[in-house]
Amino acid sequence: MNYRHIYHAGNFADVLKHAIFARLVRYMQNKDKAFRVLDTHAGIGLYDLSSEEAQKTGEWRDGIGRVLEAELVPQVAELLEPYLAAIRELNPEGGVRLYPGSPKLARMLFRPQDRLSAMELHPDDFQRLHRLFEGDHHARITELDGWLALGAHLPPKEKRGIVLVDPPFEEEGEYERLIDGLAKSWRRFPGGTYCLWYPIKKDAPIKPFHEALQALEIPKMLCAELSVKSDRGFTGLTGSGLIIVNPPFTLKDELHALLPALKDILAQDRFASQRAFWLRGEH
Ligand code: SAM
Repeated sequence: MNYRHIYHAGNFADVLKHAIFARLVRYMQNKDKAFRVLDTHAGIGLYDLSSEEAQKTGEWRDGIGRVLEAELVPQVAELLEPYLAAIRELNPEGGVRLYPGSPKLARMLFRPQDRLSAMELHPDDFQRLHRLFEGDHHARITELDGWLALGAHLPPKEKRGIVLVDPPFEEEGEYERLIDGLAKSWRRFPGGTYCLWYPIKKDAPIKPFHEALQALEIPKMLCAELSVKSDRGFTGLTGSGLIIVNPPFTLKDELHALLPALKDILAQDRFASQRAFWLRGEH
């Protein structure tokens, strides 16, 4: 386990993931009933972007750094509000020194009745996450393989929830694990909202990945992708995608407003692109 999210926190992929994840959390709150966020690959929860590690890559500058400097039209500002409000709350002096990872973002958006279960397998990162939530009765932090949690922790006792699956993709076969993990967890909790993250880079098997997801016959599956540059002559991350199972009915229209704006803000060359479409279900 070499991956440490501190090097990547707040980058263009985090912006896409966290902006949409925050919308999913807000949508769940349209009903008073409690819900649970299950975050299977949680990271350390709070990232100091002035740290040596974050400064080393500086990835956040072309991610959240650009978003904070952009002039947003009112509709896009409104769509980003839950995400950006959390960042403002953490950085009352302005800017972004502290950046919320997914478990912290969820927790900051919670009402008193909402709950978090977060898994982290890296021992150091688990310790930091555990410390961050020490004494917080809304959050249960476990040092556990997140893939196992997809079986053992579903369905949540609240019977409503968002399952975020955000693996590091440092090993072969992670796309297949995502597919198998979704198939398994959806059988246990078909009413849940799932949000699966995947990388887009040169030669990534995106088409077979989508086809395998379509073959699962899960009725409602939305896909959102954003690439910030061409992959010609570059083997690193050029974009990322999210699969959202059982999305809020408003999300597709929201993505049609949000993704073009994020593309314009985050583009690193003229080949930047975005798309949002139903993998299965409503069109
Ligand atoms: N979800 C976080 C966020 O958005 O702020 C970022 C998570 S990062 C991409 C992936 C995390 O998964 C890393 O912290 C890594 O240590 C952890 N990890 C790797 N394999 C894992 C496993 N099998 N179970 C749980 N966590 C794992």
